[in-house]
Amino acid sequence: MITVNIHVYGIVQGVGFRPFTSLAAAKHGIHGTVANKGSYVEIIAQGSREAIDGFISEFRSNPPDRAVILGLDELETEAPVFDSFEIIESEKEYGDIFISPDIATCDKCKAELFDKNNRRYLHPFINCTQCGPRLTILDSMPYDRERTSMKVFPMCENCMGEYYSPMTRRFDAQPVCCNDCGPELYIIGENTKGSAAITKTRRLIMSGGIAAVKGIGGFHLCCDAKNTEAVERLRKLKHRPMKPFAVMMRDMETVNRECIVAPGQEKYLTGWQKPIMLLEKSAEQSLSGRIAPDNLTVGVMLPYAPVQMLLFDYPDGIEMTDCLVMTSGNARGAPICRDDESAVKEIGSFCDLILSHNRNILIRADDSVVDWLCGKPYMIRRSRGFAPLPFMLKGDKTVQAVGIGGELKNSFCAARNGMLYPSPYIGDMADIRTVKALGESLERMLDMLECEPSVIVADKHPLYNTLSFAEEYAKKHSLPLVKLQHHYAHILSCMAENNYDGRVIGVSFDGTGYGDDGTVWGGELLISDWQGYERAGSITPFKQVGGDLSAKEGWRIAVQLLRQRFENAGEICEQLDLCDSKTFKLQSVMADKGLNTVASTSMGRVFDAVSAILGIRSASTFEGEASTALMYHAEMFERRKKEPAFSLSCSCTEEEDMLRLDTSSLAAETARRYLEGADRAELAFCFHKAVMELIAEACIRLRQQYGISTAALSGGVFQNRLLTRMTKEQLEANGFKVLLHSLVPPNDGGIALGQAAYAVKHRE
Ligand SMILES: [Zn+2]
Ligand SMILES: [Zn+2]
Repeated sequence: MITVNIHVYGIVQGVGFRPFTSLAAAKHGIHGTVANKGSYVEIIAQGSREAIDGFISEFRSNPPDRAVILGLDELETEAPVFDSFEIIESEKEYGDIFISPDIATCDKCKAELFDKNNRRYLHPFINCTQCGPRLTILDSMPYDRERTSMKVFPMCENCMGEYYSPMTRRFDAQPVCCNDCGPELYIIGENTKGSAAITKTRRLIMSGGIAAVKGIGGFHLCCDAKNTEAVERLRKLKHRPMKPFAVMMRDMETVNRECIVAPGQEKYLTGWQKPIMLLEKSAEQSLSGRIAPDNLTVGVMLPYAPVQMLLFDYPDGIEMTDCLVMTSGNARGAPICRDDESAVKEIGSFCDLILSHNRNILIRADDSVVDWLCGKPYMIRRSRGFAPLPFMLKGDKTVQAVGIGGELKNSFCAARNGMLYPSPYIGDMADIRTVKALGESLERMLDMLECEPSVIVADKHPLYNTLSFAEEYAKKHSLPLVKLQHHYAHILSCMAENNYDGRVIGVSFDGTGYGDDGTVWGGELLISDWQGYERAGSITPFKQVGGDLSAKEGWRIAVQLLRQRFENAGEICEQLDLCDSKTFKLQSVMADKGLNTVASTSMGRVFDAVSAILGIRSASTFEGEASTALMYHAEMFERRKKEPAFSLSCSCTEEEDMLRLDTSSLAAETARRYLEGADRAELAFCFHKAVMELIAEACIRLRQQYGISTAALSGGVFQNRLLTRMTKEQLEANGFKVLLHSLVPPNDGGIALGQAAYAVKHRE
């Protein structure tokens, strides 16, 4: 018999963890104790080695629903002999830095919401110990009502009774309230409140109108997702011609009608985090075709706040749609609106009414967006429900640091006690309103976490607003500032998410990042560990002409790639309808004279260019449009379950001690085949396959050279689920261990984690 001391870290408080432990102990015949220790749970377990292993495996295979186990330490110890298993009641310990994300309304609360005999019947703010807003209403720690936006709503006697009674579902539930004492819904600018406000909103939506609705982490813009006219109007008003809208569906029955739900996805859709999931559209779907044009998938979420449930099911006799567009309520470039003033000013003109309420949102949290890869969630935007769930890292637990994040899809990340806390999604930093939002959220999060950073890490791009923000912040607080290369930060983010310590072949395929040589990087092979990196390879450099426009207009990139490989590129560009001869000449002159031109190895741009070459998208109205549409065509070909009739030749060459993946020849070959009449979808598929083969070939060569057989895939290009899946499979077939992202986005939304982790792990 042995005794082990087990520490379990993560979300293990207030989720029924101790009773679970006690049951598992009984099952495996373990004696000992379990106690809450603030930031972890401590278990003393006594039994045979075999029994203890079985006991521990329960935590990994079958933890309680809302628990998230980040780490588990096990140490053999000496202890007296126990003759039973006991739960030790502990004093509520403060100083444990745990902030819960917001939690979707639970099933029990939903049942009460629609129960005529319940005193919270139709109460738009119903919640309990297991559900409700958390992060978004929190002012400071410790988490209790006085430090949340509920402090202005004194509890009525009934609510107080529940709050103080350990026997109720609302014991110690900080946001508890009811129809007598809670916040109230109203329509801005008129005297319509409560039930009248909900009914008016429902009627408006069913007559084809657009409403702004305040939820948990900000406002949504909302209309009937089956009404193409309404959807079109929202697109015009929001200046958003093509980017897919997320749809909130009434229930799983609706989801199963509209979409194909893969095994494992339902658990995620209905879970407590309620992200937007990208689901494959079904053949029977009734959504407007303008919701997610040229996409195999549509972003779907279930209602997670009581007000959303009431929008679908209020008993007022209105026949309601079961699919609502729910898109973030923000002006282009600006962060999501969180108060009435900004809603009126920034999105007032996009909608016909604003349904608001008087519970303040203190921290913004957009909806999280999750794709699905190899049977697992694959994060696209990490925000509500996930932020600020921490990641645990082996490393120096004394370092406190902040990674400021990237310029696009910004989020930041705070490090404290070996835990890394990514913030909710902030937005694109080109807009000064978003920079301001970054400042606000950063102050608040650091306060809450009691984090006093001793170092700031930022992207080294000299023109990024995040860098000037970080410089100012560092100066104001007299802190050192580390400037980290963008694509290295991507790889570190992937290593941090996988808690990986060795060296990796980092495949960092991305849109744009500032390279060490001042050129644009984005198709990089970086031999990386926590101490630094070596640029062992990249795609073939090309000329990016036209500044910012070249990041949006793939045809410009295509022109330069074709010029690299064809004498008669001008003719080819005309035949492909990329541009006329006059434009071609102008583009050529600019490139040759270096006017508004930079050297680039951006893989994201190559995808844009091939999308243009195949006549799919010559330009993008939102980031990733051209490459997503290219993936859509490739996926359509894969659906036909036919082997492609040809493959595109491609090669890696060695050049000045660096590997070069010849993507220019690949693009040229794609163009040649297309002009010869090859099928567009087949070519799109073959292009993906060729890129995968290039990566595999490069990794095999680098393994020979460096003796490393672990590859990490990160960067915005790996949002492409087809490429990522094929690459993973190919690398694994060749004996590589492959590190992928799962709960941290591969795109720029993930780099803050890499930055903060660098501060924790890097040693001079
Ligand atoms: Zn509840
Ligand atoms: Zn009450």
